[in-house]
Amino acid sequence: MKPPVFDYHAPATVDEGIALLARYGGEAKVLAGGQSLMPLLNFRLSRPAAIVDLNTIASLAYVREEDGALRFGAMTRQRTIEFSDVVRRRLPLLTEATALVGHLPIRTRGTIGGSLAHADPSAEYPAVLTALEGTVVARGPRGERTLRPADLFQSYLTTSLGPEEILVEVRLPAMAAGAGFAFEEFSRRHGDFAIVGIAAMLVGDGERCRVARLATAGAGPVPIRLRSAEEILERDGLSESAIEAAARRAEELVDPDSDIHASAAYRRHLTRVLTGRALRRAKATMREH
Ligand SMILES: Cc1cc2nc3c(=O)[nH]c(=O)nc-3n(C[C@H](O)[C@H](O)[C@H](O)COP(=O)(O)OP(=O)(O)OC[C@H]3O[C@@H](n4cnc5c(N)ncnc54)[C@H](O)[C@@H]3O)c2cc1C
Repeated sequence: MKPPVFDYHAPATVDEGIALLARYGGEAKVLAGGQSLMPLLNFRLSRPAAIVDLNTIASLAYVREEDGALRFGAMTRQRTIEFSDVVRRRLPLLTEATALVGHLPIRTRGTIGGSLAHADPSAEYPAVLTALEGTVVARGPRGERTLRPADLFQSYLTTSLGPEEILVEVRLPAMAAGAGFAFEEFSRRHGDFAIVGIAAMLVGDGERCRVARLATAGAGPVPIRLRSAEEILERDGLSESAIEAAARRAEELVDPDSDIHASAAYRRHLTRVLTGRALRRAKATMREH
């Protein structure tokens, strides 16, 4: 199918983009990589009066290291992130998660800002943002605000971004040198959205764990930080029994819905199995510095 008729605007600056969004009073949509928006338009599931194309705003694509964090312009392509040396060194969990997003042609167009703004519950980036305690910066007619994952993600495909706001930057604290990490997911076919995914990061040595981070994809309407599973590891260490206890706790912490892809019970089961797998692999990659 073809998309419905819409006005098309290609602003040169973010401020121009915000002014256009304001002019359409909530009836305009921002276009980033188009990998989710274009199918929605073609199926006529979305019928905006106008498209405000961010692809012409060159200043929105960058990766910068600053104050112990990596900052990504919202229009940074997933492919750029996948092959970035600084991301591989400072945020290897993000490199690994990026390779799981669809297929390379999709990642060549898809952006980090688009993925977070779209808020698909099965997407990898929201889980990484949650596990690593990142933030996003949104700019609108009333200025800028910084949002933590719990403030950003509200429900399936729903964020707290206003219709006149543009997500402009994503900030992720660099991982500690030697941190162990793994993104484990299960999908029916390579490149499909995950049924469930688990982002894990561990800091420690041997069986000692100073910091554990765990977050889900696909186990509920928003990514879930598995804090009380993390606490088991920080208290009891990384023995096989502690990992198994954390995995069982993870299963208790999620409350997924059933849909055409999987039942709620299967998603809960996957949460336990994938948490265990992610922790074992993260432990194996951990180095003390
Ligand atoms: C076959 C296929 C498989 C895929 N598999 C996966 C997968 O496994 N994992 C995964 O995570 N994704 C997957 N995707 C989705 C893809 O990664 C998209 O890149 C991503 O969901 C949206 O990013 P985008 O830049 O293309 O955004 P767009 O499609 O352009 O926009 C998506 C939504 O976000 C809004 N938006 C975009 N940017 C901003 C911004 N800066 N500020 C405010 N609002 C904004 C748009 O208005 C729109 O509502 C897949 C897509 C396809 C087609």
